Amino acid sequence: MSPENGCPADASAEAGERKAPSNFIRSIVEEDLRNSKNDGRVLTRFPPEPNAYLHIGHAKSICLNFGVAASYGGLCNLRFDDTNPTTEEAEYVDSIKEDVRWLGFDWGDRLFYASDYFEQLYEFAVQLVRAGKAYVCDLSADEIRETRGTLTQPGKESPYRDRPVEENLELFTRMRAGEFPDGSRVLRAKIDMASPNVNLRDPVMYRILHASHHRTGDAWCLYPTYDFAHGQSDSLEGITHSICTLEFEDHRPLYDWYLDQLGLHHPQQIEFARLNLTDTVLSKRRLLKLVQGGHVARFDDPRMPTLSGLRRRGYTPAAIRDFCERIGVAKADSTVDMALLEYCLREDLNRNSPRVMAVLRPLKVVLENYPEGQVEEVEAVNNPEDETAGTRQVPFSRVLYLERDDFMEDPPKKFYRLAPGREVRLRYAYYLKCESVIKDGDGEVVELRCTYDPETKGGSAPDGRKVKATLHWVSAEHALTAEVRLYDYLFTKKDPADVEEGGDWLNNVNPNSLEALSDCRVEPSVAGAAPGARYQFERQGYFCVDPDSAVDRPVFNRTVTLKDTWAKVQAQQQG
Ligand code: ATP
Ligand code: MG
Repeated sequence: MSPENGCPADASAEAGERKAPSNFIRSIVEEDLRNSKNDGRVLTRFPPEPNAYLHIGHAKSICLNFGVAASYGGLCNLRFDDTNPTTEEAEYVDSIKEDVRWLGFDWGDRLFYASDYFEQLYEFAVQLVRAGKAYVCDLSADEIRETRGTLTQPGKESPYRDRPVEENLELFTRMRAGEFPDGSRVLRAKIDMASPNVNLRDPVMYRILHASHHRTGDAWCLYPTYDFAHGQSDSLEGITHSICTLEFEDHRPLYDWYLDQLGLHHPQQIEFARLNLTDTVLSKRRLLKLVQGGHVARFDDPRMPTLSGLRRRGYTPAAIRDFCERIGVAKADSTVDMALLEYCLREDLNRNSPRVMAVLRPLKVVLENYPEGQVEEVEAVNNPEDETAGTRQVPFSRVLYLERDDFMEDPPKKFYRLAPGREVRLRYAYYLKCESVIKDGDGEVVELRCTYDPETKGGSAPDGRKVKATLHWVSAEHALTAEVRLYDYLFTKKDPADVEEGGDWLNNVNPNSLEALSDCRVEPSVAGAAPGARYQFERQGYFCVDPDSAVDRPVFNRTVTLKDTWAKVQAQQQG
């Protein structure tokens, strides 16, 4: 990981050094180490299916798998479970690798693909056929579903269940050779159609799919199911602790069955509750729908909960890792408030973002008593949270821009900012007083005529008179014009997926989640900032340079506002 984006070379090392909070998975690993299980080895893996971009839920799994390994001197593999060529793409593989690296984790030379094991898995399947533990079934997908039974009713045995071994072997070989069309036959494990666990009711191991695979091309027209590939892949890699989400709990007996029949090493599967987050959706299927339906621009749209979207929005890897540590790991499902994620982000950005002044909705201000053509520099603090960050010079001149919202011609009682006749402080500069207002034909204020007090340089008056507001500003002649994109939540409901019977969660998409301001002004010190650079715009929030930027026209995403809502959420949860 390159240092310029503020990420340590290997966050797993860092996470290992820091004392990570304990959880039940760590307790299991510690117990195993005490008992010298697996010869004291710890090997985990993160096993994404490359059928979409990763989201913040995956970050929980990544931090857990890499973090646990690092804590106990172990290693973590990255393995793509790429068993479904119809939904998987190389683009997703690349994005996943980029995201894991960006989060700060390193799989070293242990990058694997289930497709690396296709030949071996096929051999395993043949072994099961030979042992009379698997058979070729000619029922259609619908017929298999219909005969599977229910939670209360046993399934029905397939009429092909007792096919002789030789016939199964011959058919399976011909399936591989491409002699049969898609969907005409499958290979099924011969377990127990009456098992209370439906996963054990003769599950499908192989299906015929005449589809090109992003890695193996047209070498195969027969693909293993996820359930047949996953456990064996773990085993082949010598995984010690196979950490996965709760929905796989009921699949564990099936994985164990395959490994037992094949006489293979048993990784220990441990299930934990997946991350659910308010105000968004965390399912690859839904994220794909948001992209395909044009509700967002791309997978890395800054409103998306994808890691690439969060990165583009301005999230830091450190903030996401901190979040994953704070939410902990449990066995019971729960939903985490988005405010916690934002809190972790603000904590990091507050410490590490340089402050600059930017005016989002400019209002022209002329200082009538400031000499024409004169420019002076005022000294501004780069980061009050970091003494080593130093100061910078900001140009000040006769024509400035202030924030339109900081002026009211007819202010209500509690408005303490600028108004006709009123005096305020310009941050790092002088006191300024509004003398008169210029309007256009529609009665809209287009300019303020003001005076400044030369005695107040640095922001305090020698006579001790006080002002009630300090405003940010930029010098009109020196400021850069920028586009600023303000984001709101992508959904209008806290739980967007909660819809009435027959309703569509897409109806909860917020039509106003993006507001683009095209005529913003930013102080000149940010000129040339590269995409990904982060700032605090004083009083406005944290912002990040978007890749859409042009040299002479930066584009900023508002990462998050300054106002913390986590404390309020906590109070509500406790109260
Ligand atoms: P989705 O449900 O979003 O479609 P998935 O589980 O199908 O995701 P995979 O590519 O199979 O996605 O996931 C890779 C790993 O990440 C798995 O071990 C999975 O359990 C884990 N994972 C996926 N979503 C979450 C989540 N919300 N919280 C924690 N771990 C998750
Ligand atoms: Mg999955």
